[in-house]
Amino acid sequence: MTRRRVAVTVTGMVQGVGFRPFLHRLAAAHGLTGWARNTPDGVALELEGEPAELDAFVQALHKDAPPLALVDEVRTDLLGTARGEKEFVILPSTGGVPRTLITPDTAPCPACLAELHDPADRRYHYPFINCTDCGPRFTILNAVPYDRKNTTMASFSLCPDCAAEYGDIASRRYHAQPDCCADCGPRLWFADKDGAECPGDGLAAARALLLDGGILAVKGLGGFHLACLAGSQAAVAELRRRKHRPDKPLALMVPDVNAARALCRISSAEAAALQSPRRPIVLLRKLDPDALPFVSSGPELGLMLPCTPVHELLLEGMPPLIMTSANPSSLPALIDNTEALRALHGIADGFLLNDRDIAARCDDTLLRILPNGAPYFVRRSRGYVPQPVTLDFPADGILALGAEQKASFTLGREKMAFCSQHIGDLKNAETLTHYETQIARFETLFGVTPQRFVCDLHPDYLSTRYAASRGGAVLAVQHHHAHMAACMADRRLEGACIGLIWDGTGLGDDGTIWGGECLVGDYTSYHRITSIHSVKLLGGDAAIQNIDRIAYALCRDADCVRKENPLFDAMLRQNISCPASSGMGRLFDGVYSLLTGTAAVSYDGQAAAALEALADRAAGEEGCYPVTFTDDDSLPRLDTRVLIRALLADPAPAAVRAKRFHNTLTEFALRCCVLAREQTGLCRVVLSGGVFFNQLLLNGITARLTEAGFAVYPHRRVSPGDEGLSLGQLAIAAHS
Ligand code: ZN
Ligand code: ZN
Ligand code: FE
Repeated sequence: MTRRRVAVTVTGMVQGVGFRPFLHRLAAAHGLTGWARNTPDGVALELEGEPAELDAFVQALHKDAPPLALVDEVRTDLLGTARGEKEFVILPSTGGVPRTLITPDTAPCPACLAELHDPADRRYHYPFINCTDCGPRFTILNAVPYDRKNTTMASFSLCPDCAAEYGDIASRRYHAQPDCCADCGPRLWFADKDGAECPGDGLAAARALLLDGGILAVKGLGGFHLACLAGSQAAVAELRRRKHRPDKPLALMVPDVNAARALCRISSAEAAALQSPRRPIVLLRKLDPDALPFVSSGPELGLMLPCTPVHELLLEGMPPLIMTSANPSSLPALIDNTEALRALHGIADGFLLNDRDIAARCDDTLLRILPNGAPYFVRRSRGYVPQPVTLDFPADGILALGAEQKASFTLGREKMAFCSQHIGDLKNAETLTHYETQIARFETLFGVTPQRFVCDLHPDYLSTRYAASRGGAVLAVQHHHAHMAACMADRRLEGACIGLIWDGTGLGDDGTIWGGECLVGDYTSYHRITSIHSVKLLGGDAAIQNIDRIAYALCRDADCVRKENPLFDAMLRQNISCPASSGMGRLFDGVYSLLTGTAAVSYDGQAAAALEALADRAAGEEGCYPVTFTDDDSLPRLDTRVLIRALLADPAPAAVRAKRFHNTLTEFALRCCVLAREQTGLCRVVLSGGVFFNQLLLNGITARLTEAGFAVYPHRRVSPGDEGLSLGQLAIAAHS
C-alpha cells in the first residue's frame, strides 16, 4: 500500500488534558510521522503512514483518549501521498480568540495517589500532587489560554526536577500546568482559631483537632469546608449551633468506598459516581434509616470521597467526617485566607490552610443516581463546571440569566451551553457580585461577547435587572416554560412535548404565582393544560417559612379549620398581603404542617423533604385520596379542598397519610398527562421543577406514566430546580 498523508482536526475538551503527549505516543505506536499543534478550536495534525495505521490512529482518538479529554469531533481529510517525513513533532500553538474548552477540577488520579502514598516517591505525602490527568483546573484559572502564567500557580516557579518533567513528552506531567512538588509548590499549614500558624506537621495537628471533637476549616478547591467527626453528636450539634444551621442535612466525607458501604446501601452505578474523578456528593440510602439522625433526619446521607490530595491525606484512616461548605448561610463561598480567618472566627477551632489562591468559587456537586443508573443533579458544580452541555441547535452569543433562588446563568457558544457553577440565592449584594464576576469570567474564558440576553418574566429578580443593565436585546421568558425547555434541551428533545412542571414559585403570564403546572409546548410557545387550586400565602413570603400559615389557609379554604385565628381570618377576608399561589411546593409545606403540627421551617424545601421522608416509612402503602378537578375558571385545577378534607378525616398514622398524599399526586399527574394527550396526541412528558427532587414522587410518576404509554424524561445533565432554568431560557431564546 502507498503511504498517505492526511490532515486531522480534533475538537472538544482536548487542551490541558495531556492530549499532545497522547498523540505523540499514539503516532509512535502506529509508525506515523508528521506534526500536531493546539489551535483555537482544538488540535490540528498532519500525519503520514500506512492507510490501515492512519485509520487505527483515528479510531484510537475516540477510544483511548486521556481520562480528562472529551473528544467531540474528529475530521480527516486526505492530502495525498506521503512526503516522507521522518519524525513526529509537536509545533507551537497558533493564536487567535480561544474557542477551546476548559476542564473541570478533578480528584487525584490513581497514578498520583500511588505516588502520594509511596514513601520512596519524591512527592510522598505532598498535598498538592497532580499531573496532566488530574488536579485543579477551572478553580485556578484566571485567563486563557490554559498556561501556568494564567493560573494561580503563576507565583510558584518550577524547580529543576519539575521543569524536566514539564518538558518531557514521555512524562505524565508533560505540560501539566499546575505541576509542582514540595520544593517548589504550595505549602500547607495549620493555624489555630485565631489564625496563628502552628509549627510542625499541619495535617497531624488538623487530624488531632478533629479526633478531639473540634471543628476544622479546610481550604479546598473552590472554597472552604468545615469538618468535624460525623459520629460525634456533640461535635455535630456544636457545628450546627455555630453555623446557625439547625436542620439541613450535612454532607459526609469518607476515606474510600468501603467506608461508604458501612453507612449506606450502594449500587454499582452509585459506587462509580462516588469514585469518579469528579467526586460529587452522592445522596445514598442509609443502611439503617435511623442512623446518624443528627447528620440527616431523612432516609439518605450525602457521601463524598476525598476530592483533593489534602482531603485524601486528612481522611487517611479517619472515621467519617462532616464536610460541609463553610460559607456563612446565604453568602457566596469564602475563598481567601484572610477573609476565611475573619468570617470563620468563632466557628472553626483551627484552620488547614495553604498558599495556592482560588481563582473561582465552586461548591461541591450534589447528585443522586436514579434506579436506571442515570445521574440526577441537585446541584451541578465542582467537577462538572465548566464542561458544556451540548445542544442540537446553535445558541451563539446568548446569555441566559436564570431566576432568583439557586441562581445560575448559561452562556451559549455554537452548539454548546456553558452552565455556571452554583451561585446561591440572588438576594444580597455579595451574591450579586459573585454572579456578575462569574459572568464576566465565562465571557472571557470562552471568548463570547453576548449579543442577546434572556431572563425571567419576574421584573423584580436581580437577574432580570442585570439583563436590562447590559443594554442589549432582552427576552423575558415565563418561569415554567423555561423549566420545561430546560428539561427538553437537557434530554435533547425537539418538537412539542407535555411538561409536568411542579415547583415552589414562578410568575405566571397572568400575573399570579404558578407552580403546579401541566403545560404543552415546544421551544417557541406553550399553553397550560392543568394547574392546582391556589392557596393564599398569609403574609406573602412570611408563609414560606411559617408553614402553619399555609396549613391554616388550606383548612380555611376547605372549611375544616379546627382552631380559629381571627387575625388570619381578617387577612384572608380583606385579602391583605396574601397573594394566591398555585405552587406545588406550597401544598407540600401545608400538608407537612397539617400532618406533624410543624409551625416553621429553617430552609427552603425542608417541609417537602421531611414529608417525603415520612411517606418513605409507609412505602408499601397504596391508598389514595380523591382526585377531582375544580371548574371555577377555564383551566382544570386539582381541587385541593377535597384533598385536604380527605387527608384530615383519615384516621391512619401520619406516615400512611403522607404516602397517600404522594399517591394522590401521582394519580393527579397521570390524569393531567392523559388530558394533555387527549387534546394534543402527544405522549412525551418532561418532568421539571424543584418538586421533582422528591424521589418517591419522581419514581412513582415515572412508573405510572410509563405504564400508561407515555415516554417520560426526567432531567439528566442539569438540575430540575431553578439552577437548571437558565438552560431552558437559552433554548427558548435560541429558537426565537
Ligand atoms: Zn494525576
Ligand atoms: Zn518541584
Ligand atoms: Fe422554579
